[in-house]
Amino acid sequence: MTAYPMPTLTGDAALQVEAVPLTAIAEQFGTPTYVYSRAALTEAFQAYQHALAGRRASICYAVKANSNLGILNAFARLGAGFDIVSGGELQRVIAAGGDAAKVVFSGVGKTSVEMRQALDAGIRCFNVESAAELDRLASVAAECGKVAPIAFRVNPDVDPKTHPYISTGLKNNKFGVAFDDAIALYRKAATLPGIAIKGIASHIGSQLLDPAPAGEAAERVLTLVEQLATEGITLAHIDIGGGMGIRYSDETPPVADDYLAPVLKALADRSEEILLEPGRSLIGNAGLLLTRIEYLKPGQEKHFAVVDAAMNDLARPALYDAFHEVVPVIARDLPAQTYDVVGPICESGDFLARNRALKVADGDLLAILSAGAYGMTMASNYNTRARAAEVMVDGKQCHLIRERENIADLFALERRLPD
Ligand SMILES: *Cc1c(COP(=O)(O)O)cnc(C)c1O
Repeated sequence: MTAYPMPTLTGDAALQVEAVPLTAIAEQFGTPTYVYSRAALTEAFQAYQHALAGRRASICYAVKANSNLGILNAFARLGAGFDIVSGGELQRVIAAGGDAAKVVFSGVGKTSVEMRQALDAGIRCFNVESAAELDRLASVAAECGKVAPIAFRVNPDVDPKTHPYISTGLKNNKFGVAFDDAIALYRKAATLPGIAIKGIASHIGSQLLDPAPAGEAAERVLTLVEQLATEGITLAHIDIGGGMGIRYSDETPPVADDYLAPVLKALADRSEEILLEPGRSLIGNAGLLLTRIEYLKPGQEKHFAVVDAAMNDLARPALYDAFHEVVPVIARDLPAQTYDVVGPICESGDFLARNRALKVADGDLLAILSAGAYGMTMASNYNTRARAAEVMVDGKQCHLIRERENIADLFALERRLPD
């Protein structure tokens, strides 16, 4: 899996990504800037390919983890399919050069407009999450004279043992259809002319560090596949979702080979194609947020490093109390001080890291690691802050894959009241 931490220290002790020093990126593009490593995301993708060698399988990158066109394009060139959760993400995949025929569409609230858009584009599969969605999809398909390929996303009721906000496969949450309702839904779908049954899907949560729950989910799903077969309903694929965890601090996530071993064991005798929907594990450790210290602010109880990135750039600490490693870009020979690394936003929740021993001075650059997934995609313009630039490093080269926003663009769609 992706090396951790992604950046390496060079001889002169400046942190670099692949062959590019972060000091050079800050100089050229300013801060805050998201920096990604093409080698790291490629390595993460190839780790899955390695684990799946010899199996008919597709890796559908979960676009919501990071939907930048440059990143989608890099995955498309590696042969990835895509897991989307909105019509907007479908447009991105197509704009990035991705193949709509490799797209699966998840989500509990697909609108008729999104369904039509996806049917017109010819996506691979709708992962249907309710009886009402099945009815809606059948009627939309009939209206456009198309047949909608579907899987039901079933809720296997397996505890992924992760953060409650990112656990999705238990009975009491909004995702998927109940395990006990699945067979009846397939029977119904089989009678609908606008619907073609293709597969079955499940996704039990995110940041999973233990391989066992995914294996259990696969076993649960397999019982449905076998029962459906006895009724003459055969499936072409089994989608086991995403969710493999990454290292943020001292976690020891499995490598893809080990993570998938229980799944592959459960499905060893099956001929269906296996689909995966990994997001975080493909891009999380391939990205960092580069920020500059504006002020060091000593306090009586606490010292603060006030940086130019904030919770609007990286929401995970404020949202989930998530931990991101913070590394100074230049190593200094100073005594370490304990700091909270905070942004300029008017919220006490605006912190990126707390209680970190850092050897830093005013104006120093910091790298906030493991920020490639659910970083930029969750960024906002709170406090009328322009969203960060994004840069993809590829060996010695550095590609700007998203310009920093202009403030004027932030209110370009707004209007003053008439005189
Ligand atoms: C978010 C999501 C994923 C990706 O999850 P990761 O934890 O980022 O791997 C996959 N499938 C579905 C349906 C999702 O909602």
